[in-house]
Amino acid sequence: MLGQMMHMPLTINSLIDHGARYHGETEVVSVETDGTTRRTNWREICVRSRRLSSALRMLKLARGDRCATLAWNNARHLECYFGISCSGMICHTINPRLPPEQLVYVINHAQDQIIFFDKTFLPLIVRLKDQLSTVRHLVLMSGWDEEAEKLPGLLFYEDVLATGDPEANWVDLEENDASGLCYTSGTTGNPKGVLYSHRSTVLHSLGAALPDTLNISAREVIMPVVPMFHVNAWGVPYAAAMVGAKLVLPGPALDGESLVHLVDRERVTLALGVPTIWQGLLAALEKLDSKAASLRRTVVGGSACPPSMIAEFRDKYGVEVVHAWGMTETSPLGTANALLDRHTTLSDEDQAKIRESQGRPPYGVELKIVDDDGLRLPEDGKAHGKLRVRGHWVVADYFGHEPGQTLDEDGWFETGDVASINGDGFMTIRDRAKDIIKSGGEWISSVELEGIALKHPAIADAAVIAARHDRWDERPILVAVRKVGAELTEHEILAHFSGKVAKWQIPDRAIFVATLPRNATGKLMKTTLRQEHGDILVVGADEHG
Ligand code: ADP
Repeated sequence: MLGQMMHMPLTINSLIDHGARYHGETEVVSVETDGTTRRTNWREICVRSRRLSSALRMLKLARGDRCATLAWNNARHLECYFGISCSGMICHTINPRLPPEQLVYVINHAQDQIIFFDKTFLPLIVRLKDQLSTVRHLVLMSGWDEEAEKLPGLLFYEDVLATGDPEANWVDLEENDASGLCYTSGTTGNPKGVLYSHRSTVLHSLGAALPDTLNISAREVIMPVVPMFHVNAWGVPYAAAMVGAKLVLPGPALDGESLVHLVDRERVTLALGVPTIWQGLLAALEKLDSKAASLRRTVVGGSACPPSMIAEFRDKYGVEVVHAWGMTETSPLGTANALLDRHTTLSDEDQAKIRESQGRPPYGVELKIVDDDGLRLPEDGKAHGKLRVRGHWVVADYFGHEPGQTLDEDGWFETGDVASINGDGFMTIRDRAKDIIKSGGEWISSVELEGIALKHPAIADAAVIAARHDRWDERPILVAVRKVGAELTEHEILAHFSGKVAKWQIPDRAIFVATLPRNATGKLMKTTLRQEHGDILVVGADEHG
């Protein structure tokens, strides 16, 4: 065929170059690990990323090498994102909350050559270093201090950067080159690595920026509270460079009060994070009597957003909650909740109901639900089954695993979630497949029961798990945390479920605890809860331990 369009590879350097060229003065605000604030901008981030990229080559690191980060959300971490990936190396963001043996596992499995780490993690590195078999360089992302002496040969970030050329050209990249690596939190077995490509990252950024997903632009001030070590802070650093938004990186202090101060000072318009973060923020807004006047939207994902949270943000602060779903394997954006045109004429109550779902996929992602035999189920909002996904930014094979083992025969990825999808494509997560409660053959959604529990004003946190039962196999029980100073009995909280779900779905027992166990990505560890409380309904369990 005569005539063609240009082919420009979809590579991450195009994102940062665009940000620097057209939004160079737009600020990147970084709360540093020592609590100070560094104000920089997209131009400077680009220059320093170029420096880093050439410095890495001088350290004799080669294309394809894995370069790890162990860092909070801050500007240096952002420079690593671009500097590493755009020099043809792979930015492996490590979750420091993983248990030590899993940290060692992921670093050795990735064969990391270098680790950039924040001062917070210096003691951790000192402890683990002898077990790290491939690491050649350790780089502390702050200045010298006494403890640093425990690591002979340690490099310092600014010294490394100073050796680099600020005008260095990026290396030539193909769009299918690998750019980043992130491990799942591995609640069962060892964590598995998901290797992102330049192409998947750029396409994900385009998908994430769309109006019905994150809806971001150059007029936005975006604060990713979701860590940069957790699925690339949901892709926000790349998407923000792409649209030229101001970026606010909150550093290590993620308590409600610190976040409220930051929102108010930097005039944050959009913040993103997991529900537990917003619980803290909502409590702090009340305490500090802030109206979060600049805040227009929060994106909530990672675990189900309780309906009461959506209502509180809307009613008290005029903030729209965008409920989103995704996973490490989907880069992570799989769905986001934005209403359709015809929903806008519905009553507030009906709209609120729709907003509780995890939303629908943007262009680039497809979903389906299947039964145990892999047969497709109807999308009628009622049938629920195993959720499978495919798309431009969905994993095909785990890093270092034999190819061809991850997808089903039709090329879909099994998410491990159980969901329903309605006729408009809105998907609702009912449970993790492994957390499902089967009572007398009937299935009960723990997510729904948790949402109801959290609507009670005296409840701070809630988990519903399956407890073994002689007659029904399993019955739901509630494990809950009371708000500080609140008084609430087991009988009162169980009565709160009456009329909200069918009688047989109401938990048999409620247990109050001080805190609920959460894993490295903030998700409830229901296996632990089941080990602790799973026998509470079994006759004689007390006597037998
Ligand atoms: P990991 O798989 O390592 O635990 P991920 O962040 O990849 O960490 O977790 C993905 C899982 O988190 C999803 O499969 C789903 O179970 C859960 N999840 C994410 N977002 C939501 C949401 N909005 N509602 C309910 N569950 C969610």
